[in-house]
Amino acid sequence: MKEMIPRPALAALKQLNTAGNEAFLVGGCVRDLLMGRTPGDFDITTSATPAQVEAVFAGERIIETGLRHGTVTVLREGLPLEITTYRRDLSYSDHRHPDAVCFTPRLEDDLARRDFTVNAMAWHPDLGLVDCFNGQADLKNRVIRCVGEPERRFDEDALRILRALRFASTLDFSIHPDTAAAALAQRQLLEHVSRERIAAELTKLLCGPAVERVVNGYWPILAVPVPELRAMAGLDQRSKYHCYDVLAHSAAACAAVRPDRLTRWSALLHDVGKPACFTLDAAGTGHFYGHAKVSARMAEEILTRLRFDKDTIRRVTQLTALHDYPIDPPEESAEKAVKKLLNRLGEADFFRLLDLKRGDSLAHAPAYRGRAAVCDRLEALARELIARDQCVSLKTLAVKGGDLLALGMAPGPAMGRLLDQLLEAVLNGEAENQREALLALAKQLTIDR
Ligand code: ATP
Ligand code: MG
Repeated sequence: MKEMIPRPALAALKQLNTAGNEAFLVGGCVRDLLMGRTPGDFDITTSATPAQVEAVFAGERIIETGLRHGTVTVLREGLPLEITTYRRDLSYSDHRHPDAVCFTPRLEDDLARRDFTVNAMAWHPDLGLVDCFNGQADLKNRVIRCVGEPERRFDEDALRILRALRFASTLDFSIHPDTAAAALAQRQLLEHVSRERIAAELTKLLCGPAVERVVNGYWPILAVPVPELRAMAGLDQRSKYHCYDVLAHSAAACAAVRPDRLTRWSALLHDVGKPACFTLDAAGTGHFYGHAKVSARMAEEILTRLRFDKDTIRRVTQLTALHDYPIDPPEESAEKAVKKLLNRLGEADFFRLLDLKRGDSLAHAPAYRGRAAVCDRLEALARELIARDQCVSLKTLAVKGGDLLALGMAPGPAMGRLLDQLLEAVLNGEAENQREALLALAKQLTIDR
């Protein structure tokens, strides 16, 4: 294990220990190291008070933002080390934050306040692993289990309910039955947690490899912050194209797309409008006319409520709105259609849309997953067009506003429209992306007006 720990972290542990304190690596990094994964960050827990920690690292880059909670962050060779004094959390009255914390001389107390057994282990360079709550066994069995009594721990801090689901998804672990039962029973406590924190946990959960299992198994918890999920669960689509209800279909779509936040949120929400659009025809087949638009509107509401930034909301809403838009309509060549949509969405979101459409297709009944192969072909085509520099946008159009000004045209919305027309002509293959040709076309179009 020692070999996997970066030098600056080991050095900091040693420095604290030789100065007469106890210092251990703790929490997520110990869990990740035991699993053979590279930790995202390195947390150190120590008997030293923050002032003593600062004294040990005097003259180094220290960030004091967490000082109120007993955390000193030392920046070593670009690696932030969060060094926190052993602490106990006192009473909780808002179901989220301890009313007060106090320092303690005992490592065991500090480990006992931590959320899950796999997150409550500490490691010392000479003493090795300290595992008071059988975290190692749970790690081996891939189980998320609360430290102590789950009811109490979730009542203290309701965010832990979502953290349990998040770790189950990202680590691909199960949740211990007692912990799972308490999480379900106490799910309403999530109303006490800030929407930003909920959003951050949901995003991590959605990007995990076990997202499908967690969404299907624990949707009533997710439906506290996103009640729209409730109507999706159990909604039989009454269609030969589907083998899942709307929620399970969306969960399967999530798992089938890349673990990218925008794509995964779009996959979760792409059909959220289906319950509102459900109709049955005379033959008893289900239809969902107009559901993409309704889903987009609802996605916008949901993400706004969860306080996502404007850019995220706009892009997820757009992907949702376009999820069943035919990229290669029969009346147009695939090349033309791809160029147009690439121009409209930009490369990154165009490929996200293809990924979403592919994932959506793969979440259909087995006999109806053929669109996925079409998406693969369109993706290959788009990559080829990009490689050949065939994808023109307003940015790469051979004529710019300045050229039109030079022709004597007045600036304003009419000029914007003309540039759009020129771009359209290039994308349609009616004109070359070449200055002289486009200027001639511009003159022609202004005369025709
Ligand atoms: P990652 O950083 O990979 O998301 P992590 O386990 O490091 O996972 P953090 O949120 O960074 O998670 O928290 C670090 C550690 O602090 C956890 O491993 C856990 O021991 C403890 N912890 C964090 N949040 C809570 C909480 N709400 N209740 C109890 N303990 C917590
Ligand atoms: Mg961490």
